[in-house]
Amino acid sequence: MTRKKQPTIYTLPDEFQAFDFAQDLLYWYDAQKRDLPWRINRDPYRVWVSEIMLQQTRVETVKPYYQNFMQKFPTVEALATAPEEEVLKAWEGLGYYSRARNLQAAAREVTVSYGGVVPDTPEEISKLKGVGPYTAGAILSIAYEVPVPAVDGNVMRVFSRLLLMDDDIAKPATRIKMEQLVKQTIPIGRAGDFNQAIMELGALVCLPKNPQCLTCPVFDYCLARREGVQDTLPVKGKAKPPRPVQLLTAVVKRGNQYLIQKRPEQGLLASLWEFPMVEDAGTKDDEEQLLRLLEKEYGLQVDLGDYLMNVQHTFSHLHWNVDVYVMQHISGEPLKENAVFVTSEEMSQYTFPVLHNKIIAEITAKEEKW
Ligand code: SF4
Repeated sequence: MTRKKQPTIYTLPDEFQAFDFAQDLLYWYDAQKRDLPWRINRDPYRVWVSEIMLQQTRVETVKPYYQNFMQKFPTVEALATAPEEEVLKAWEGLGYYSRARNLQAAAREVTVSYGGVVPDTPEEISKLKGVGPYTAGAILSIAYEVPVPAVDGNVMRVFSRLLLMDDDIAKPATRIKMEQLVKQTIPIGRAGDFNQAIMELGALVCLPKNPQCLTCPVFDYCLARREGVQDTLPVKGKAKPPRPVQLLTAVVKRGNQYLIQKRPEQGLLASLWEFPMVEDAGTKDDEEQLLRLLEKEYGLQVDLGDYLMNVQHTFSHLHWNVDVYVMQHISGEPLKENAVFVTSEEMSQYTFPVLHNKIIAEITAKEEKW
């Protein structure tokens, strides 16, 4: 009979004084923590929204979005019952729109299955859309004081240094190891503050480049600092660079109106609005490719116009390089479903990705001269 492989148990290095470390860290956190809008109270819904917004986005960027979002959707029910278009509009500019869609889908699940109360167990909360191990740990510890870790890239950087670990933090196995080790340092009764204190330390002191060791509240406990190797940690394997994609976009002008269309409900930038776009085949002239697209897919006759601008946007896996042309409408109504002509003022009612908002800004600036 073959035996099932047992998971490895990791323990803290003997020389790491976990208890004293946590006490000193919390002492510093209590005195120095930033005044942030999501720290007003520990309402699980508020914590949840903040943690989703803070994924891949800086604190200063998130602040005004968070306040506006909480005003518009103050409860789980308010978010669950709002039209998707309104939720996306409130998220416009934050990027990674799947976060907003997943958050709303999960709010609906919480309303239907948990009577509007965010669940307080790892098993239940992890089933919600968009709630991964980090977010689950953050909500459970901050809102409910469940002693679980919340390990993201920042926490891995700080702990790689504190514990002198040279494991590659890009590997999933390192996260599992890190979660085990962080869990062993969480003090009883202050899980939420402890997890936030680690994040705060990573944001303010133990910076990615140039960690501020001389003013660090846990200087005495840091094993990397003792060896003088803090600048070489963490170890991070190289991620694949984003794939470059060349695109062409047409701003089709009819009087004071412009043609926009809604993207499909699934996939990248789902359900957002944009100007017609096509991948550059590179075989023909840019404008000829756009003329063909507009004629074949939209049933529109247009005149060649002018080159407007180049815009770029990098996603985690793609880099879009977009050349934009203005084309004058001659005849035809848009055949394509979800394609409409609107004025530049009316565009503010639709949600566009960042890249297309840059095009709108350029149109608005040039409109009077056209
Ligand atoms: S002593 Fe330096 S490397 Fe260690 S935790 Fe503090 S800032 Fe980071």
